[in-house]
Amino acid sequence: MEQLARIFAEKGFQTFVFSTGAQAAKALAEMVGTGKTVGIGGSKTVDQLSLYDTLKEQGNRVIWHWKESDKAKARREALFSDFYLCSSNAVTKDGKLVNIDGTGNRAAAMMFGPKTLVFLVGKNKIVDNVEEGIKRIREKACGPNARRQNLNVPCALTDRCADCHTKDRMCNLFLVHEYPSKGIEKTCIFFIDEELGL
Ligand code: SF4
Repeated sequence: MEQLARIFAEKGFQTFVFSTGAQAAKALAEMVGTGKTVGIGGSKTVDQLSLYDTLKEQGNRVIWHWKESDKAKARREALFSDFYLCSSNAVTKDGKLVNIDGTGNRAAAMMFGPKTLVFLVGKNKIVDNVEEGIKRIREKACGPNARRQNLNVPCALTDRCADCHTKDRMCNLFLVHEYPSKGIEKTCIFFIDEELGL
């Protein structure tokens, strides 16, 4: 994980390595401080680390569509936050971040909008290359995500991708970060030596 962090750091990402999710959450809370706006993309990892509650209690305005009734409004507002938190669906050993998105809010924030973007990445997200990343997403992440959102897609039933053409399809957008976006002041990756998220 230290070696992976070095590979990403050489590309201009700000990288940090933590043994546990609790340590990563504490460091993130210190980095954000108080009085900021914090947007969150759909992320089981962020949920597991209880960052929504922690950052709110610390005096920040936290915008997460998972917690709001007007989800479309929350998705738009979260884009232009001081900090935007998310995970990455996969991270390759040669230093690329691989993500899919259905609605596009999370992918958009990974490219432009927030001042500081933070990826929180558990060790289960590490793959050999982009192709393996897409495979991992479709075979390991999409099924549980679809069930959580009650989506009517084949992988919700089989945990296998049928390259569906349904209206609920989640794999509409594919985004690969070769390097950090120039439109974001600071892109951080918190590597966490635990299994987190989907
Ligand atoms: S294309 Fe459809 S079946 Fe395949 S992973 Fe995406 S949502 Fe599931």
